[in-house]
Amino acid sequence: MSHTAELIAVGTELLLGNIANTNAQALSQSLSALGINVFWHTVVGDNPERLKEALGIARKRADILITTGGLGPTYDDLTKQTICAAFGKPLVLHPDILEDIRDFYESALHVPMPENNTQQAELPEGCVVFDNPVGTAPGCAFEAEGVHVLMLPGPPHEMETMLRRHVEPYLRRLSHEVIVSYDIMTFGMGESSIDQLLHDKMAHMTNPTLATYAKPCEVRLRATAKAATEDEARAMLAPVWEMVRETLGDIVYSGDGGDLADCCHGQLIRRGMTLATAESCTGGLVARRLTAIPGISGVYRGGVVSYWTSVKADVLHVPQDILDTYGPVSEQCARAMAEGVRRLTGADLGVSVTGVAGPDPDERGVPVGIAYIGLAAPEGTFCRPLDFGWRRRDRIQGLAANHAFDVVRRYLQGLPVERI
Ligand code: ATP
Ligand code: MG
Repeated sequence: MSHTAELIAVGTELLLGNIANTNAQALSQSLSALGINVFWHTVVGDNPERLKEALGIARKRADILITTGGLGPTYDDLTKQTICAAFGKPLVLHPDILEDIRDFYESALHVPMPENNTQQAELPEGCVVFDNPVGTAPGCAFEAEGVHVLMLPGPPHEMETMLRRHVEPYLRRLSHEVIVSYDIMTFGMGESSIDQLLHDKMAHMTNPTLATYAKPCEVRLRATAKAATEDEARAMLAPVWEMVRETLGDIVYSGDGGDLADCCHGQLIRRGMTLATAESCTGGLVARRLTAIPGISGVYRGGVVSYWTSVKADVLHVPQDILDTYGPVSEQCARAMAEGVRRLTGADLGVSVTGVAGPDPDERGVPVGIAYIGLAAPEGTFCRPLDFGWRRRDRIQGLAANHAFDVVRRYLQGLPVERI
């Protein structure tokens, strides 16, 4: 039997928009991996009447209710009391938990425990206790009238620690199915074009399923299978991967959800090559995304943010006549920047980005959205000209950075780089 869960986040801060419900995101990801359907996310303020109302609705349509927040010691922390009243469970004091909390205050915080913390040691009768090694409020779970109720603390690092240590094992015992998902990453085709190519095949799929998600500047396809075991689910996904690869061709760059920067990292290692970057309109975004990857120092030598024309000339040695004749946003300049940074760093590959991110055209009248990616390689220099049209500045920068990665990954995979 498959289970249905409802997540109830308790907290007025969430309703006011002061914080985002990241706990629901983390819980949903983990529940879907366990094969548990999550059909509702509810958010309710620190208000016992409305929480009671939400519980009344949730218990009719789900058999696993998971609450987050409101387990603290203050007057607005009412989750436990409200749930116990709704399910007719008395609260029982656990002296050992009270000692642990007192200990935490005295030895870790060096202050006496405030008396109102006593209520954190009171838990529903007969519940399973989830200890909290990174905070004071324990979580808990009980079953009543065929419904499993789990209560978790609000602070995300406490919630996530408890999720891994206690909640996942608890739920795994309830579930008889696993869900396995692959994120198939593509770059170079819009979501609607991909949808058109795959629609007929996707429409008939129920298990496994395939869905498209447009991320900024690229499209992710999620293939998901439900089965009794992980191996079985993986076997069901293999033909989906084949079908997507066959239909979309070389715009597919990864099957494991890694982004284009991760893909370049892997390909640079595979080919034993090093890379350097020269960036103008992306202002170091390509370098930043590379250096976010642990271990990148084995293949990435460094980069230059050559924002001023004089820096393109003085640091990268872009010839002055190129800058005068064609301007800094030109195919010629992109090529010279890539060659310059390759020479400067001694890397095997130099990649460059120059373009107009807007909101205004550059001083020579080049319109917003024009960009060039240069690639200097041992066998010669390449350039991919781009025209994104008028878009937001950060979108143009993100797209240009992704094209720079795409040029590198296509080169490393032996594919044509100048056009996709
Ligand atoms: P505490 O002992 O800190 O009071 P608690 O279990 O009572 O913990 P809350 O008081 O509801 O939890 O929330 C504490 C903090 O945790 C909030 O200020 C907020 O920063 C964060 N938080 C609460 N709920 C969420 C949520 N759903 N998603 C992300 N962060 C949250
Ligand atoms: Mg609180």
